[in-house]
Amino acid sequence: MTIAGATTADLMAAVASGETTAVEVAQAFLDRIEAHDGSIDAFLHVSKENALAQAAEVDTKRRSGQPLGKLAGLPIAIKDNLCTKGEPTTCSSRMLEKFVSPYDATVIERLRAADAVLIGRTNLDEFAMGSSTENSAFKTTRNPWNVAHAPGGSSGGSAAAVAAGMAPLALGSDTGGSIRQPAGFCGVVGLKPTYGRVSRYGLVAFASSLDQIGPMANDVHGAALLLEAIAGGDPLDSTCLPEAVPSYTSTLEEPIAGLRIGVVRSHYGEGLDAEVNAALQRAIEQYEDMGATIVDVEMPHQQYSVATYYVIAPCEASSNLARYDGIHYGYRAPQFDDMIDLYARSRGEAFGAEVKRRIMLGTFALSAGYADQYYNKALKVRRLIRRDFDKAFEQCDVILTPIAPTPAFKIGEMADDPLAMYLSDIFTIGANLAGVPGISLPAGFSSSGLPIGMQLLAPALQEERLLRVARMFERATDWHTRRPQLST
Ligand code: GLN
Repeated sequence: MTIAGATTADLMAAVASGETTAVEVAQAFLDRIEAHDGSIDAFLHVSKENALAQAAEVDTKRRSGQPLGKLAGLPIAIKDNLCTKGEPTTCSSRMLEKFVSPYDATVIERLRAADAVLIGRTNLDEFAMGSSTENSAFKTTRNPWNVAHAPGGSSGGSAAAVAAGMAPLALGSDTGGSIRQPAGFCGVVGLKPTYGRVSRYGLVAFASSLDQIGPMANDVHGAALLLEAIAGGDPLDSTCLPEAVPSYTSTLEEPIAGLRIGVVRSHYGEGLDAEVNAALQRAIEQYEDMGATIVDVEMPHQQYSVATYYVIAPCEASSNLARYDGIHYGYRAPQFDDMIDLYARSRGEAFGAEVKRRIMLGTFALSAGYADQYYNKALKVRRLIRRDFDKAFEQCDVILTPIAPTPAFKIGEMADDPLAMYLSDIFTIGANLAGVPGISLPAGFSSSGLPIGMQLLAPALQEERLLRVARMFERATDWHTRRPQLST
């Protein structure tokens, strides 16, 4: 078995049978990073020594017959906005360039308890604001399928790391699509759980009513396994749901009799790339061949979702990012006249253009005299969008949609046009506004060899259904088994 690029199930079996060890697995992935990350730039920081030490501990535990966690010996890449004790947590921002977290996020604690091997920190758009990783203050990640193209974002580093076989698993965060869109662009599986399914304690906040942490993997089983390890109640996050976590991996292969798949016809018209459209039509037919019924559903308010999101998310960001004042956290301007000047210079010097744009938009939309016109109105539209989902799910079990209007765009193609970039989030944002779970999975390739992703959405807390429906598609297709050819 070639270790780098293998699935989580194969890796676990190989380690359990003694064919290989956790240390050998960690070393193989570290070698892969060493060989290829120079051209992909998925990682901001590779935790070589810590990873090997964690892996050695897993091997020792195994040899001495101690119980092992769910993710024993599996390397995992971590988006660099998740606090990890003793490691840099930069959010790809100059503001936190030198910040080393004094504590572990709940998800990191759970990964450690599951005996996972934390292999490194991945690149993102600054503070997770973006769809391409071009907004990172440190580097632009490249799409492993074609390095001239963006990996998507904001969890572009995590998606590229999994696609390039530099980690079998990764964590991302998704506020408006940041797990699903890069997963789609890189041909891997990414799941945004229900709002509150996974604790966000230790996730650096962007927009608190939308943010969720979720798994990325090279197949559905990997995503199910990782979600199982991180989901569930947490007293440290008051928005985290206490509901019991089902064993997603054990029901994965169960077929769903009488499955009804909702399709919004207006998604498949103007604005959708012809090859993406064709791949999705094929996917719909494949589900029909597997016995699913296709139901037309209406989402009349979805057309307002980009506008709604780009009011709510910046408003929350402007408030969350107020903490970076040059005093409590992060960067402090070396020269200043007085306290106000210290705030202004520190923020002015350390935040990038997109972060500043969001802070200004949010501050404006929340200001006296405008809050009713913008913020409060957006909240009302958000409720209507949520209602569209509730109604649609009365008629179907899951909704199938594109992930993005096109396959991965070229690096630089939209960098100077923030509005075009915002508009490309049209298919992913609704799930965050409504709080429902969504999964992205490989559904084909463009004629130029770029992955095409598809999205499935389910009602709140129906991740189990989502994963099973995704797994049905995997059983009928081989898109998820393809790996990019990396140049050496
Ligand atoms: N592209 C969206 C934005 O820029 C979503 C980002 C995210 O999900 N973190 O806000």
